[in-house]
Amino acid sequence: MSFRVKTILGIAFIEIVMLMALTFSAMSFLSESNERQLLQRANSTAEMFVHAAKDAMISTDIATLNDLVREFMTVEDIVYIKVMRGEKELSSMGEPSILERGMSEDFSLNTVNDGIFDTRRQVVSSGVYYGTIDIGFEVSEINSMLVNAQKSIIGIASVEVILVAIFSFFLGTYLTKSLVKLIEAANTVSEQGPGYQINDKSQDELGDVARAFDDMSRQLEKSYRDLTQARSEAEQANESKSRFLATMSHEIRTPMNGVLGILNILEESKLTPEQKKLVNTATESGQFLLSIINDILDFTRMESNTLRLEHRPFDFRHCVESVVATFLPAAKAQALEISCTIDGTVPSNVCGDENRVKQVLHNLIGNAIKFTKNGSVSVQIHAADLESTHAEITCKIIDTGIGISRNAMDFLFDEFTMADQTYSRSHEGSGLGLAICKRLCELMDGHIEVESTPSIGSTFSFSIRLELAKQHIGTPPKSPTDLKLNVSDVSILVAEDNRANQLVIQEMFKKLNLSMDIAENGQRALEMIAQYHYDLIFMDISMPKLDGMETCRAIRKNSDPVVSQIPIIALTAHSLAGDREKFLDAGMDDYLAKPVRLSQLIEKINLFLGDDSGNSSHKVTRSEPSIKSSQSSNDTANQGEHVNLELVDETILEQMIEDTSADVLPMLIEHYLEESQERLNKIYQAMDEKNKETLEFESHTLGSSSLALGNRVLSNLARKIEHLCIENEVEQAYKLKDELNDLAEKSLAALAYRKKQGFIEPAG
Ligand code: ADP
Repeated sequence: MSFRVKTILGIAFIEIVMLMALTFSAMSFLSESNERQLLQRANSTAEMFVHAAKDAMISTDIATLNDLVREFMTVEDIVYIKVMRGEKELSSMGEPSILERGMSEDFSLNTVNDGIFDTRRQVVSSGVYYGTIDIGFEVSEINSMLVNAQKSIIGIASVEVILVAIFSFFLGTYLTKSLVKLIEAANTVSEQGPGYQINDKSQDELGDVARAFDDMSRQLEKSYRDLTQARSEAEQANESKSRFLATMSHEIRTPMNGVLGILNILEESKLTPEQKKLVNTATESGQFLLSIINDILDFTRMESNTLRLEHRPFDFRHCVESVVATFLPAAKAQALEISCTIDGTVPSNVCGDENRVKQVLHNLIGNAIKFTKNGSVSVQIHAADLESTHAEITCKIIDTGIGISRNAMDFLFDEFTMADQTYSRSHEGSGLGLAICKRLCELMDGHIEVESTPSIGSTFSFSIRLELAKQHIGTPPKSPTDLKLNVSDVSILVAEDNRANQLVIQEMFKKLNLSMDIAENGQRALEMIAQYHYDLIFMDISMPKLDGMETCRAIRKNSDPVVSQIPIIALTAHSLAGDREKFLDAGMDDYLAKPVRLSQLIEKINLFLGDDSGNSSHKVTRSEPSIKSSQSSNDTANQGEHVNLELVDETILEQMIEDTSADVLPMLIEHYLEESQERLNKIYQAMDEKNKETLEFESHTLGSSSLALGNRVLSNLARKIEHLCIENEVEQAYKLKDELNDLAEKSLAALAYRKKQGFIEPAG
């Protein structure tokens, strides 16, 4: 109900109630005073008649009585007079119909029902009764007068109600018009920002309100302008800060990479134990500095929302294992027990940013070891299927370290926070690690939390959501120590402007006994390529004159196919997400992140120029060497040269021993091997006969039994075949026969070999 209607109804209601009360009280006053007057007149007239007629009645003088009756009848309003003695009428006058009706005495107007007020007097003298006098008065005139008065009062009241209604309508309209203006002005301000003016000139209170609104709007506009300016200045300052940090970090990273590279060469040369220790310390400090710079760079990117995650298939289980493996020496040095349990539900093939997952794990496990003096650090991973396309993976890192106090926990995930400043000062760290972990988890649609009791230990848990990869992910690359250069007599060009980096690479090539040329910029590289023949080019990205990308594009455009097809590997300190695609788009075949390690150099040279490099359709492989898993010992790798023990997942076997026993495992494996051979034959047959149902069923069974006994890679392939069947891409599945044949042979052989080595019950 609008304000106007409410005003009108309210005023009208009050008016009607008041008028009704007024009418009622006026009417009752009028009728009461009329009644009083009538009674008085009736009484006095009757008394006068009695007084006049008393003697005539005592002497029964009828003639006098008749005269008196006639005389009184002339009095206004008297309609009859009747003088009786007992039943005998002495004298009377009036309409016969009135005289003959039965008389009942009236004492108030209310009892009058025939329009006549009847009154009666007894004539008594000295105790003797002489008769009765009845007199009747006309009252209809009083009644009609009352009705008329009522009519005119109601008429006046109605006119007043109408007038008041009209007034309140105009008042309501006037009030609401001003209010509507105010509402519209407020809406305009909320939509378009402050500044809008009502400009109401009226001099009443509503005019004052409108002027107050205008003032407020003007003031707000001014503050708003000031604030906007302050914000844009702050944003600019923040942007320059981020740019400064990013540039600085980049500028520090490049020479730092050079320093680390030189240290790497030094490390591999002949050194006294003392020198070796110094080099180690220098490398560690350099790496630490680099990690802080990387943290700062990550953080600035997160602050400016420019950090993008990669979306590539990777092996999640292997990812965890490799991070845990890097901490084995540190844990051993501190005499800490470190364990890693990966639940069977955790998928291997997922899509996401492997390096970022590793970064979070690395940070948390690193902290756990850093803040635990004795006891253990345990990593537990489990997963839950979300729909059928994604998995939610939860990782717990449990330590028995110093723990974190309640107060510190509240701001633990804020940037630059160290729980215990004094304690942490003795520990390396920037206080950015957990802040970065938190943001990374959030970027991966997850979260991170901590539970901790001081002096007992802490549990950090994080969950992330990863897409399940359809694609099969190959076995991880070999460990660096296994790498040997299998090329000779090749010519390689390195385009690199930084002197320190040139030196590092030169030293590495010297070590490899390979000749190489250096071009100090892109332009020079193009000249040299035109002059000499090269089999492979390593190309720095940021170089003066002509940068790596431009140079690469120029080479690819060369009319001579020998030149335009030279494999080019980008060398980059930029490891931003999305850069890889940029390099590949520019025509690079692969890329290596700086600081370049000798092992990576060997790996790439082998990949592109090695005897088994085969065709030139090289794929980008992991540039990062995997760390040897804690479980595969060197001697077994040497003995079983023909078997690839990496096809057997030791963690699963350990879990199996835990679940069963070391004695039973060989029997289980034996059984699996026999059964799998039969199953594989059925699969091959189904592939030849294009029998989809059998293929789907058998590959499903092979997938699960292989995973149970540690042949994870084989299991992945079997699952891939199963999925292809489910998705009706059977033709593709049939094509995997050779790959399956090869992998199955190697996997079963590896497991058979592993079985021969025997199993031992874990301690405790
Ligand atoms: P930093 O680089 O200093 O390690 P983090 O953000 O990773 O920075 O950690 C912040 C602080 O949180 C640490 O300095 C430490 O005080 C506390 N902290 C982190 N992890 C643990 C842990 N596992 N046990 C005890 N304290 C921890």
